[in-house]
Amino acid sequence: MGPGARTKGEGTTGEPRAPPVYDSAGMASSILIVEDEHAVARGIQYALQQEGYEVTVARSGEEGLEFATHQAPDLVVLDVRLPGMDGFEVLRRIRAADGKMPILVLTARDDEMDKVIGLELGADDYLTKPFGLRELMSRIKALLRRAYGDFADAGGGRVLRHDDLLIDLERRRVQRAGRKVNLTPTEFEILRHLASRPGRVYTRSELLELLRDYEALDQDEKTINVHISHLREKIEDDPSAPVFVLTVRGVGYAFVER
Ligand code: CA
Repeated sequence: MGPGARTKGEGTTGEPRAPPVYDSAGMASSILIVEDEHAVARGIQYALQQEGYEVTVARSGEEGLEFATHQAPDLVVLDVRLPGMDGFEVLRRIRAADGKMPILVLTARDDEMDKVIGLELGADDYLTKPFGLRELMSRIKALLRRAYGDFADAGGGRVLRHDDLLIDLERRRVQRAGRKVNLTPTEFEILRHLASRPGRVYTRSELLELLRDYEALDQDEKTINVHISHLREKIEDDPSAPVFVLTVRGVGYAFVER
């Protein structure tokens, strides 16, 4: 087996093994800050990173829009006062492309209009400058929780995310597009293994081996196909054209790479 191989657990009781340790950067909530003022952006970035979030800073509206539409962050902190394309235009365009991405706008002091326009254009919340980082943090957490349910509690926790598919490793729960998905233990294990290493191809025999560790299965490799097909029916919009769990012809299955 290659470098992707896992050590087989010792347990023979059929109990799940302790999950392997993951790189926290791979599953933290990702947040985009669109702000041209360096000191402000840096302060927010630092505070968020301390909380375990994955943070990207865009210094212009154009850059922010580009990132928001192509990288699909979990949340956007958007200043309305930006050179070039202003924050309202960025907000309008993000909303046109994605109705649900949580967006918190930063408005100028004493400018009630900023707040009104921001909310009308679809901002989920606003904060008036100057604001305390603690206040910002609690607003961000509230927005994430509202958007992603209690999965968002794990800011740097054991949640794997891919687009709107969330896999809570500790609570063994899966959510897709804001809705809970009920998987069998076997389906969950398959998804967990695949999604933990996007792009890594697992052969059917490897998956069977991993599942044998987890459940006493007297199954052959063909039953993996059946589990995969059930899994796709539950998490894919179109199970015949999967976007999460891909078939690698003649080899096995892989979770899509970001
Ligand atoms: Ca600004």
